[in-house]
Amino acid sequence: MSRHSHDALRTRTPTTQSPPPDIPVPPALLIQRRQSGIHGHGVYARTAIPAGHVIVEYTGERITKTESLRREAARLERARKGHDACTYLFHLNQRHDLDGRRGGNVSRFINHSCQPNCHSENRRGHILIVATQDIAEGEELTFDYGFPFRDWADNPCRCGAPDCAGYIVAADQRWRLRRVKRTSGAAR
Ligand SMILES: [Zn+2]
Repeated sequence: MSRHSHDALRTRTPTTQSPPPDIPVPPALLIQRRQSGIHGHGVYARTAIPAGHVIVEYTGERITKTESLRREAARLERARKGHDACTYLFHLNQRHDLDGRRGGNVSRFINHSCQPNCHSENRRGHILIVATQDIAEGEELTFDYGFPFRDWADNPCRCGAPDCAGYIVAADQRWRLRRVKRTSGAAR
């Protein structure tokens, strides 16, 4: 399988690499799932969470890239038939992804935002969701899904941030989206 096909897969990708996992407080005490204003279910802070706090580990079935591509194709097929179109695939490393649909926890419901209050880190093979700013009780948790630019049109964003890109695209690739919008006049 080519590197190119890996890139085409819409896995959420961790933003940084750092030391081993450290989750001092059970996630259930910190966060809860409920209906979101952004999309479907979201995850909300049950209490104030300070910047830098490791909130929850993104868990799921560990699958090969080949299997991940197969599941993504099946998901798109379901979506085309009008069924559940949510993806819970997360890039783990060059060979494996995590599928939060099986063996996942509440973290799979955390929505994307163009102006997130968390980020994802790969710490020695563990994907951790970490607060990047102080989060108030009741606030929705979000992180950048890091989707590749090429799939932008399939992934509209409704995060509501003042600088929302309109589509779910990794922060470091949004300049390409702005360029497309400028040249096509299709800005929203
Ligand atoms: Zn957005």
